[in-house]
Amino acid sequence: MSFSSQIKEELCSVESKPCCLKAEAFGMLLFGREFSASRISMLTDLECVAEKYRDSVSAATGITPSIKLSGSGKYTLSVEGAQQRKKVLSEFGYSGNEVALRINRANLADECCSSAFLRGAFLSCGCVTSPQREYHLEFTVSRIKLCRDLQTLIAESGLMPKSVSRSNNCAVYFKDSEEIEDLLGAMGANNSVLELMSIKIYKDVRNTVNRKTNFESANLDRTFNAAMVQTDAIMSIANTRGLDTLPEQLRRIAQLRLDNPELSLTELGRMMSPPMSRSSVNRRLAKLEEIAKNQR
Ligand SMILES: [Zn+2]
Repeated sequence: MSFSSQIKEELCSVESKPCCLKAEAFGMLLFGREFSASRISMLTDLECVAEKYRDSVSAATGITPSIKLSGSGKYTLSVEGAQQRKKVLSEFGYSGNEVALRINRANLADECCSSAFLRGAFLSCGCVTSPQREYHLEFTVSRIKLCRDLQTLIAESGLMPKSVSRSNNCAVYFKDSEEIEDLLGAMGANNSVLELMSIKIYKDVRNTVNRKTNFESANLDRTFNAAMVQTDAIMSIANTRGLDTLPEQLRRIAQLRLDNPELSLTELGRMMSPPMSRSSVNRRLAKLEEIAKNQR
């Protein structure tokens, strides 16, 4: 099951407070496919969402929408009959002939009712991308004014939704994982919030491990390349004037480097007696490279 479907299943099982029942039905109706005098309908892949729409609308208005299941497994919910639609519309303060459909705030008595309304809206037109891939929660709305109203309503709760207009619809969306968690929590999907958090922790750990591995291998590459340049220089000295001609300290470092090409400068320094700092080792190796260069 997709993460989106899982969230919707959880939202369907949230018990609304009596004051919120109507707001939840309102969200589902307004953000369904159509909400007008000629058609009131909603389309969904999920049985629980279809039943939720039927039961909420029925409880809030006394009119029970019909459910049809298509061969492709999609449920279509419709309020049949002009009189029935008129009753549903007027229940929420609409005539059904509005040119631009807006959110009628009179149906959202309290803050809890606004959350229930968002839950209904999400059930009708929301989706979430798998958090394994990316963080993206979206309400896809076909009417631009309704889209703006939804963005404003959500923004009032302190979240910062973004919106985008596309050729055939408009979307209110979030990309920030913490905002997605907050919104899901407000709508009542607490288990999904926990799951999102644990996926995020897993991804963070994995990224940190990857970053560390990359960092270490980059370091190893650097150490290895530097060691190659140093041993080349030392070999060229050995093959021309000979290592015996070098001052004692330089000769010992040169020999140590030839014997241990894989060691870091700090490790080489520890092997000297008396031990030598990393920068002293570095200075002497640089000196050896200079001698090699000058004799070419
Ligand atoms: Zn309420």
